[in-house]
Amino acid sequence: MRIVFATAEVSPIAKTGGLGDVCGSLPKALRELGHEVVIFMPMYRQAREWFAKNNVEPEPLGERFMLSWADWTTDIRFFRTSLPGTDIPLVLTENQFLFERPHIYSPRPDGSDDYLERYTIFCRAVINACERFQFAPDILHAHDWHTALLPVYLHSGLRGSEVFRNTRSVFTIHNLNYQGVAGSDQLRHLGLHSRYWAPDAIEHFRDVNLMKGGIMMADQVTTVSPNYAHEIRTPEHGAGLDGVLREVWWKVTGILNGIDTEEWNPATDSLLEANFEAGHLHGKAISKRMLAKEAGLEHRPTAPLIGVVSRLVDQKGFQLLIPVMHRLIDAGAQFVVLGSGDPRFEEAFAQIAAQRPDAAKAWLTFDNSLAHRIYAGSDMLLMPSIYEPCGLNQMYALRYGTIPVVRMTGGLADTVTPFDGTNLPQANGFGFFGQSPSELYTATWLSMLNYKDPGLWNTLQFTGMREDFSWHRSAREYEAVYRRALGW
Ligand code: ADP
Repeated sequence: MRIVFATAEVSPIAKTGGLGDVCGSLPKALRELGHEVVIFMPMYRQAREWFAKNNVEPEPLGERFMLSWADWTTDIRFFRTSLPGTDIPLVLTENQFLFERPHIYSPRPDGSDDYLERYTIFCRAVINACERFQFAPDILHAHDWHTALLPVYLHSGLRGSEVFRNTRSVFTIHNLNYQGVAGSDQLRHLGLHSRYWAPDAIEHFRDVNLMKGGIMMADQVTTVSPNYAHEIRTPEHGAGLDGVLREVWWKVTGILNGIDTEEWNPATDSLLEANFEAGHLHGKAISKRMLAKEAGLEHRPTAPLIGVVSRLVDQKGFQLLIPVMHRLIDAGAQFVVLGSGDPRFEEAFAQIAAQRPDAAKAWLTFDNSLAHRIYAGSDMLLMPSIYEPCGLNQMYALRYGTIPVVRMTGGLADTVTPFDGTNLPQANGFGFFGQSPSELYTATWLSMLNYKDPGLWNTLQFTGMREDFSWHRSAREYEAVYRRALGW
């Protein structure tokens, strides 16, 4: 099959979270199954910087040209390189004004957020590139609200074009809570027929809702774990689109994300001081000592070191941790926190780290190589997410012999089997269900108690480290979804 991936993020070039990880690794697994994949993403400043740092020079693909759509006109130039470490083509859409910003999702310098313009132009550029370079995809795979307009455009007339005549669309929901919502006055910028201003298309309670448009118009919809696929049909997790998702349930599939098992392999990870594998954990003990040193914490080999690597936003549930963090430290835990986001959380973690310098460190930044060292050097990884479509960190942690302590929601419930005292052969972590700090406290404390039993702990580690979270199985499920979209 010929597959176009259109995405706002591709790891390791420009990523803020799981969307980037998926779009940087699923194409490799599809390629291994024999499919032809081309990835499109914007040429952000972060991408340019990544290429410069890694001595990669994307080649210009054709001349700069004016792209006009509805009442927008802008200049575009395409560049081509390949997904790092592969021969998979990666096409970058360059426009200085739209994509040359301090962060991937930064607004304009004057503070106004032109997200609708940025990603509408990007979607039209993807279509333009396929037509310009005569690439006729079987599958147009759009990801999250940024590229949700692609299934809508495909539905609204592109099938009249030679290149897209046989193309079918797949839309993946990575996080339903970011929907790309805009006022009804913005509809005119999308260049859509008025038929699409309807509750069975892009309108949602008198607003433009790109995510809804993608869900309604795509031939198939996927989301990133089976449990999240169920949860998003409920008012609690449906973010206002649960009714829509119940209506189109027949075309929604939950496919658990895989992880890039080459990048995330403790036996070969070059970002670690010492490597290790299941059954041979000496390198993990060294990683713990090095991490404590790097964090300026007192090295306590037998005290549990708890890691956090996360965006610091309400979704991730640190409002449950902060009120009990001192008590967990009093009970013997040490913490290393790597994250950035909401100043409320950043300040709270900075304050606790300042108050307890021997037991808590907070790095309030984004640092991929430090993230590797935290997964390797910690004993537990805490993920108290309020909701979690899939979650990758718990899978990285499991692979690095770090026991996840999680709130049992979304993909966390699909990947973590909490130890309950009776299920040692299956268990690989600890979990809780409620949304209170005391429940987080109890689950973490329970993990700390069990940490004192090295035999039991090693069994939990061994189980987690041996699990197969590679993309291979998931890629086959995507392949099946593509076939359903194509009616093959
Ligand atoms: P989400 O996409 O909601 O942020 P995921 O668990 O799906 O959550 O993916 C998070 C990804 O981002 C992981 O690869 C994780 O290691 C990475 N990550 C998050 N915050 C940071 C950070 N501050 N520094 C380095 N990596 C981070």
